[in-house]
Amino acid sequence: MNKHIIVRLLCVPCLSMLMLCSTGCSLFQPKDQSVMAQAADEHKALQPAVMEDAELTNYLQSVGDRIIAAAKQLDAQHIGPPAHFDKSQDNKWMFSDQMKFHLVNSKTLNAFTTGGEHMYIYNELFQQCQSEDELAAVMAHEYGHVYCRHVAQGMQHQMETLVAGALVGGAAGYALGGKDNKLAGATAGAGVGAAGGQFLNMGFTRKDEAQADEYGFKFYTVAGWRPEHFADFFRQMIKMGLDTTPGFASDHPTLASRVQAADKRVKELGADVDKNVKPPIADDAKFAQLKARAAQLAKTLPDDKSLQNSQKLAQALPRSCITPLEQDDAVQARQQLADQAQQSQSSGSKKKKKKTAE
Ligand SMILES: [Zn+2]
Repeated sequence: MNKHIIVRLLCVPCLSMLMLCSTGCSLFQPKDQSVMAQAADEHKALQPAVMEDAELTNYLQSVGDRIIAAAKQLDAQHIGPPAHFDKSQDNKWMFSDQMKFHLVNSKTLNAFTTGGEHMYIYNELFQQCQSEDELAAVMAHEYGHVYCRHVAQGMQHQMETLVAGALVGGAAGYALGGKDNKLAGATAGAGVGAAGGQFLNMGFTRKDEAQADEYGFKFYTVAGWRPEHFADFFRQMIKMGLDTTPGFASDHPTLASRVQAADKRVKELGADVDKNVKPPIADDAKFAQLKARAAQLAKTLPDDKSLQNSQKLAQALPRSCITPLEQDDAVQARQQLADQAQQSQSSGSKKKKKKTAE
């Protein structure tokens, strides 16, 4: 692998590592407070790409609040994975009115949560939803990641791998650095090792995705959307040709397997399938109107640099919750961010050299 490629591999992970650790996450046992602080930091970077429109914001939040109210009922019944009932944590914040669902002005098909109080639905995904049932299923899935504390678990794995990677890579770097440049060699080696670990651990695992579907389905059903429609959006994406990566080659469950699992859950409900069903917040006509409003608004939003940077960051966010197929625009955005990081890294070291020479 040439030096250029190593630097590229290094840059994106380092960028997210900076984002991760800027708030002082504690090693090995990230607590909710660290996850929330990290998510709040990331939100500052994403904020310019969030569509600020009272009607759309209120609508998304009403759908979200219905999901959260259902989750609160399940919490009271002690339904959830062990990580949700971690005795060292207080679950209250997950049900507070600080939990925000944001509509992101982005042409990437995605939805994502950073694990704290922020969940993001991209406008392209909203535009592809045919009804509130489809949107609510995606939102319930995102909230499922929060309820199951997947970001905290991911951070924990990341930190463990980073430490192991830094130890192994650091030793190799030290040996390669030569006697005149041992410190620089060790630092560079630690970076590559750490980056390798970081690179492998970006995004949610296949198990996380399946668990977010499992609990998302429960919230969705209790909240009153029709259980048999939970997998409609996945069905639609299969039709769009987005399920082409075989399950064994992806860290995401295939869309087909997600549909199958949802259908099985519907069957298990038996006669109770309609028990909680309520009318949607927006019927199909209203839903179409809200989509049109978002599409129109996306065209009129200012196209300044901060928005472009936030959109790029939104595009580059590791791994879609939605499709196992890596989207070209996400790959390109990640590459551009890596190039930017590389440029600022080399201009930073040039400045440093100049200063030392003076
Ligand atoms: Zn997900």
